[in-house]
Amino acid sequence: MASKFRTGTDLIKSSAAGGGKRRFTPNIYWKPGDVRAIAWLTAAGDIPKVRLHQMVRIPDDRFDSGFRYETFVCKKDPSMVEEFGGECDLCDRVGHEASEKFVALAVELETVKEGKKVKEVKVKMDQYKDKDGNDQEAVRWGIVIQAAKNFYSYFAAYDENSGDIREVAWEIHREGGSTDTKYHPFVIMNGPNAIPLPDLSEVTENIPALDDILEGMASPEKYEQVDELAPGSQPSFGGKKKTTDDGAVPTGERATEFSKIREEVVGSY
Ligand SMILES: [Zn+2]
Repeated sequence: MASKFRTGTDLIKSSAAGGGKRRFTPNIYWKPGDVRAIAWLTAAGDIPKVRLHQMVRIPDDRFDSGFRYETFVCKKDPSMVEEFGGECDLCDRVGHEASEKFVALAVELETVKEGKKVKEVKVKMDQYKDKDGNDQEAVRWGIVIQAAKNFYSYFAAYDENSGDIREVAWEIHREGGSTDTKYHPFVIMNGPNAIPLPDLSEVTENIPALDDILEGMASPEKYEQVDELAPGSQPSFGGKKKTTDDGAVPTGERATEFSKIREEVVGSY
């Protein structure tokens, strides 16, 4: 393996086993109108820009629609080119369109409120039964996949002007859907003061590193699912801009410089 990352699939599998019946990489996202509180585990300056295949339709009879959606790291991502030679089955054979997004790790929080005022934030737990029928609980964590323009640019600005985004609890509201989507991030305050974060040291022990998660999203095991997909089986999502480097074979490290976010924001106007 030529990758600069440690092999992540074992970590991801063991983490998934510890986290209940999560078969896929957990993903924290907001539907229109959603309000979610989170703590960032990735420093703003370490948030990578990643070439992704999102909403890839995988045939699955367990769903009424007949398929489930999965997200893959594109093998044309700069960090993957050395290993895969710039060839990606999803791009080249299936014809699924990749796009560039920023990805960070977060833990979801639960707010304890009195009226509108938050009094405390706790780590959000999912309850589930293990295969022996025993009650278990797992920390709700996930990757947050978003664009710079209407999401991460805010956190880049916060990082530049106010400090480390990991030091405070965030409540993020999503307003609207599709192209008019707005995200409103707030630092969770009580009066003028930020509410202290819960101790995350034990929580984060069981969460794999972001690099390992991303590597798992391009692993042979993950891409086995692509083998069964026929060319043209993927709907194209209308209006989505093509990435500028389609067909190009970039090399080098994954872009993590936060200046990229600003570049992207500026470039999109
Ligand atoms: Zn691809």
